[in-house]
Amino acid sequence: MANTEFEKNLKYLPLRDTRIDDPFWNGCVRLVTGEILPYQYDSLWDRIPGAPPSRCIRNLRVAAGLEEGEFEGWVFQDTDLAKWLEAAAYSLAALPDRKLRDTAEDMIDLVLQAQQPNGYLNSYFTVKYPGHQFCNLKEGHELYTAGHFIEAAVAWYQVTGEDRFLNAMRRFADLICEVFHTPDYADAVPGHEEIELALYRLYEVTGEEKYRAMAYDFINRRGTTDYLSREHTLPRFIDVWHDRGPYIPEYAQAHLPVREQTTAEGHAVRALYLYSAMADLAGSYHDEALLAACERLYDNIVERRMYLTGGIGSSGTLERFTVDYDLPNDTAYAESCASIALAMFCKRMARVTGDAKYMDTAELAIYNTVLAGIAMDGRSFFYVNPLEVIPDQCIPATDRAHVKPVRQKWFGCACCPPNIARTLASLGEYVLLEGEDSVRVNLLISGAYKTHLHGVPVELTVDSSLPWEGRAVLRLRAERPVTGRLLIRVPEYAEDPAFAAAGGPFVPATDRGYAVIDVSGTETRVTFTFGMTARLIYANPRVSADAGKVAVKKGPLVYCLEEMDNGAGLASLRIDTTKALKEVPGGDLRDCVTIEAEGERLTWSGRLYSTRAPDAVPAKLTFVPYCFWGNRTPGEMTVWVNKK
Ligand SMILES: [Zn+2]
Repeated sequence: MANTEFEKNLKYLPLRDTRIDDPFWNGCVRLVTGEILPYQYDSLWDRIPGAPPSRCIRNLRVAAGLEEGEFEGWVFQDTDLAKWLEAAAYSLAALPDRKLRDTAEDMIDLVLQAQQPNGYLNSYFTVKYPGHQFCNLKEGHELYTAGHFIEAAVAWYQVTGEDRFLNAMRRFADLICEVFHTPDYADAVPGHEEIELALYRLYEVTGEEKYRAMAYDFINRRGTTDYLSREHTLPRFIDVWHDRGPYIPEYAQAHLPVREQTTAEGHAVRALYLYSAMADLAGSYHDEALLAACERLYDNIVERRMYLTGGIGSSGTLERFTVDYDLPNDTAYAESCASIALAMFCKRMARVTGDAKYMDTAELAIYNTVLAGIAMDGRSFFYVNPLEVIPDQCIPATDRAHVKPVRQKWFGCACCPPNIARTLASLGEYVLLEGEDSVRVNLLISGAYKTHLHGVPVELTVDSSLPWEGRAVLRLRAERPVTGRLLIRVPEYAEDPAFAAAGGPFVPATDRGYAVIDVSGTETRVTFTFGMTARLIYANPRVSADAGKVAVKKGPLVYCLEEMDNGAGLASLRIDTTKALKEVPGGDLRDCVTIEAEGERLTWSGRLYSTRAPDAVPAKLTFVPYCFWGNRTPGEMTVWVNKK
């Protein structure tokens, strides 16, 4: 059974009620509207010189009968536009923009024109196999694509109040609910999860029970049927990829009933989208066994299968989890989407359980791998997020062929860029959770947040110095006198957390990682301070890739060495762990704190091998935040550093 009780009735704050205004995050969040969305829109129209073409919009135009042509690209190409629309909606919540809104509405028109009379929507099957629907769930990604369209429609409705897109996607969802309860599909499950969490979101905004029930059916079926392994024998099957190897049920988390799964297996993005839906549904149905499975899977990930940076899915082959402690740094896959999905799962677990520990992991993923996935100018992206790069060694036809030493303008398979955009644009959902009599602050991100206590409107302002200093001032102002609780997550890295209010310092009660502060009257002001010095991090010795090495972390930020600060040959550097780390503010990467360490550089001359040990000369090591790596001169990078 589950370790924790269900925490009932916690809700995310609507994005229109959140205003992030944070020195660290403004640069990224405002980039979404100003740079990322226009750039990605051009990408979807194939207008970026030198970037792989997307064909996304063109495919939908062909499906809509607006132009002649063939489908080009991946079977799930539609999702690039769906995620763009979702990000556009979130962006409009933060910053009204007539031009963006008009563009998004044009794209919604296009999507609706491509929708078939029965509600079905998918440009690949509509163009290539007209009339054939749901005939290859294993590889066809129809339900995955449907999920992203539904999420976009939910977001558009939540932000704009317009229900045209939502109603159209309800017709699609209605079709799915109908088809997947016919005898032919009674045990069918999607090959790539996503529809489950999308149907749950649709249920939350519409109250339509059948959407929640369909999501629950999909997860209850998973691992109990052989549908995916026998699908290719069905008369309706259409072979999409033609290079099908033997089917591996673990790849799609279909090897065991979900409540019996104990280890994170298979394709990491699929897994975490599934776990996200499991968390939603466990909370919604008060399903103890399902919550217990979520807890076990979470523990397996964070204790054995996650990089220090919050990256998951260590293998480039099949983009998958492998086995415990297998976390190679230079061949890491750690897809940006997988860390986004990890943050999504953790956000849901925090909501369902009321336990702050999940937000430690969400924060880690967001501040490191997710943020590293996008350049500081918003115009190039990492799909793969290694922890060690030697550019000359990232060559084709090797186990590092997938590792790119510089961010790319776009990808033929471009799942990550628009996923990063929608995540940054919806960051406000990660900051707070609202309960009936409580407000929970999950991330200390500066801004103004409109929420409620006992139905009374209150505004919470947060003035935070993270991630450079452990200090935040929180002010809660209510429209009229009110009582309730302000819960503030105490991050796992906080040293000596201290609280002060008008009456001076106080020691609050604690509850599962939160400091609990009673609120009464119309105004409460709390100052929360804690130590957040740069620390050395050691890995479990069973992680062979990190043996004899240390990493540097300050608060939520993991640091790395780059060639341009430390010279070539980062593997020849050794850090002296007996000497203090020195924090230097005002770095050239978004005014960051850089960290200096003492150490040495091994010197070597001549041959490949020698009986003579290397000499060493003193060296200063300069670390910069991992999330900002690769934004200057391209070169080597490493997170884990040899220990002297
Ligand atoms: Zn991706």
